[in-house]
Amino acid sequence: MLNLDAHLVGRHYLQIPGPSPVPDRILRALSLPTIDHRGPEFAALGLKLLAGLQAVFQTRHPVVIYPASGTGAWEAALCNTMCPGDHVLMFETGHFASLWAKMAARLHLSTEVLAGTGTDEHFPQAPNWRRGVRAELIEQRLRQDTERKIKAVCVVHNETSTGVTSDIAAVRAAMDATQHPALLMVDSISGLACADYQHDAWGVDVAISGSQKGLMLPPGISFNALSPRALETMKGATLPRSFWAWDEILEANKNGYWPYTPSTNLLYALSESLDMIQSEGLDHIFARHARWAAGVRSAVNAWGLPIQCADPRLYSPVLTGIITPPGVDADALRRLIYQRFDMSLGVGLGKLKGRMFRIGHLGDSNDLTLLATLAGCEMGLKLMGVRIASSGVQAAMDYFSSNRAYSALPTVA
Ligand SMILES: *Cc1c(COP(=O)(O)O)cnc(C)c1O
Repeated sequence: MLNLDAHLVGRHYLQIPGPSPVPDRILRALSLPTIDHRGPEFAALGLKLLAGLQAVFQTRHPVVIYPASGTGAWEAALCNTMCPGDHVLMFETGHFASLWAKMAARLHLSTEVLAGTGTDEHFPQAPNWRRGVRAELIEQRLRQDTERKIKAVCVVHNETSTGVTSDIAAVRAAMDATQHPALLMVDSISGLACADYQHDAWGVDVAISGSQKGLMLPPGISFNALSPRALETMKGATLPRSFWAWDEILEANKNGYWPYTPSTNLLYALSESLDMIQSEGLDHIFARHARWAAGVRSAVNAWGLPIQCADPRLYSPVLTGIITPPGVDADALRRLIYQRFDMSLGVGLGKLKGRMFRIGHLGDSNDLTLLATLAGCEMGLKLMGVRIASSGVQAAMDYFSSNRAYSALPTVA
């Protein structure tokens, strides 16, 4: 439990790439009194949220909300569309892609994991954990599948374990080029509301997202965005499902309700988040995260440390993964920064354990909180005895001061 006496004054720096820092507005919305989820006030809230989420996913089709973490919405995507033994093609971009594949196997699907080959100087054991989804490999595999056994292609949009954002439109184009009927499922749990995600324009059939990343909410609710084909496929899908079943939820949603008790207070928070997103505008939100990411990368480059994402076209606007020099345990660095400066950084997951750490630049942040974050990292690196090339904080200050952000604040005369 949170030990209030340990965090004496000042906010803890929660710089992991989700849960992200929650804005005060949203925290206050969470504390409103819980209302009757079958009463008249609730219906207005429910209908507002469902419409607001469509705008964020950039879709005209239904979005489903679950009282579950993102993992639940992963399961929902598969069990609403697949039959036992169905073959699914997944692309291993990192830890989260691997976990989703593991889940598919546990659901009695036949999983095939594509992983780019090649070598990498930092991670010879996982070269593709520094790069994005390779659409040409998916295309090649779909072309071989003349019997159309592959029922779904599953990819992660923003791979949170590495800081690589894949080109989903390219995956769609590769699938279209083969005229293969597989569904396209996309995990944008950490991408949504930070990186551009266009559900309809990219022809995604099922998208998965969660509350605690770009939407800046606490953990606890997650989403599926659907396509008409996904809804059609659902009718013949025989994997067991009850709690996750879209049909009953969509029926109740028509009137703004749920078939069970939804997470009322988290939905208040979602309502506040959607208001914030609507007033800022998606384009501005994407530009803001891209600018933050560029500022953080300028610091990492100044330190002279490698960025986990090896393809500059795919740098994540959400987080930056930083590879520590050989012999420097990234977990020891994270521990030191936590103890000395009250800041949490993202851990190296799976194959990257101990070799890298991640800085989240999402949620309730601004230029100055990011500079403080970088200062904490820079002090930690020095205390660990890492010889940095130059000050990353200075580089980021230079970046932020010479690349002005849009501001709604009144001009000072
Ligand atoms: C956070 C995350 C998940 C897991 O979501 P939970 O809410 O922890 O269940 C899955 N995929 C990606 C890309 C994520 O960022």
